[in-house]
Amino acid sequence: MTPTERLTRAWRSLDGLSVGDAFGEKFFGPERAVLERIEKREVPPGRWQYTDDTEMALGIAEVLEERGEVDCDLLADVFARRFRNNRYRGYGATAQGILEAIGDKVPWELAARRVFNGEGSQGNGGAMRAAPVGAYFFDDEAKVIDEARKSAQVTHAHPDGQAGAIAVALAAAFVSRNPQTRDGDAMLKWVAQRVPDGPTRRGLERAMGLPLHGPLSRAIALGTGQQVISADTVPFALFCAARCIDDFPLAMWTTVAGLGDRDTTCAIVGGIVAMSDRTKVPAEWLEARELLGRTSAW
Ligand SMILES: [Mg+2]
Repeated sequence: MTPTERLTRAWRSLDGLSVGDAFGEKFFGPERAVLERIEKREVPPGRWQYTDDTEMALGIAEVLEERGEVDCDLLADVFARRFRNNRYRGYGATAQGILEAIGDKVPWELAARRVFNGEGSQGNGGAMRAAPVGAYFFDDEAKVIDEARKSAQVTHAHPDGQAGAIAVALAAAFVSRNPQTRDGDAMLKWVAQRVPDGPTRRGLERAMGLPLHGPLSRAIALGTGQQVISADTVPFALFCAARCIDDFPLAMWTTVAGLGDRDTTCAIVGGIVAMSDRTKVPAEWLEARELLGRTSAW
C-alpha cells in the first residue's frame, strides 16, 4: 500500500474524528435541555467548530504525510506550532503548559514527564487523537501499537495515557481490517487483548463483560471522561463504538448521551466507526463542521 493510500485512510478517520469532536462540543449546556435535544435527535444548527482533539489529530496527519511515521521530535514541534497559532481550541490546562514549554524549547521528554509530580499525564488527550494512526497502519498490528504510543508520549508520559491511545488506534485498525463487521464484541476483545496492562485495560475488560445492546447506563457507569483521564474515557468510548460499529449517526447519538467529556468521547468513536464500509458520516454533518485546514496534498 502506498503512503498516499494510507493517508487517505487516515483522513477518512479524521473526518469521523473531527465531525464527532465538533458534534459533541455542541452538546455542552444545562443537562436537562441537552438530554432533551439528544432524545429528540436534534441535529445542532449552524457551524460546528472543532476543538483540540481535531487540532492535534491534524498535527499527527501532518507528520504522517511528511515522514510516513510518527517522528516524536517533529510531532512535538507541530503540536507547539499549532497551539501557538490558535490557543482557543479548548486545550486542557496541563496540555497548555506542556505545549507552551515545548514552544519555549524545553525538550518534549522533559515537558511531558515533569507534570503530575513526575508521573506524566494519564489524560485522555493521547486517545482523543489516535484513531487516524490506527487507520494509517491498520494492516500492521505491531506498528499500530508502536506508532500510537509515540503519538501519545510527546505529551503523555504516563503509560496509561499511552495505553488509551493504543486502544483507540487498535480499534480503528480493527474496523479498517474488517470494514463489513457488525461484531462489536470481537472488536472489544481484539483490542483488550493487545492493550498494555493498567487501568484502561481493566476498564476495557469491564466493558467487555457488559451486554453490548443492554442498557447504556451500565456503560456510562464506566465513566464518560469526567476526570478527563484515559481510564474513565476510553472504555466507554470503545463500548459505544462496538455497540454502533456499523452506524455512524447512531454511534454519535449514543456516545453523546453519556455526556461527560463529550467532544472527546465522540471524537474517539467517530474516528473508529468512520472506517466501517457499512455506514457513512452524513454529508450534512461534514458540511456543518468547520473546514479543516488540510496540508499540501489535501
Ligand atoms: Mg476537545
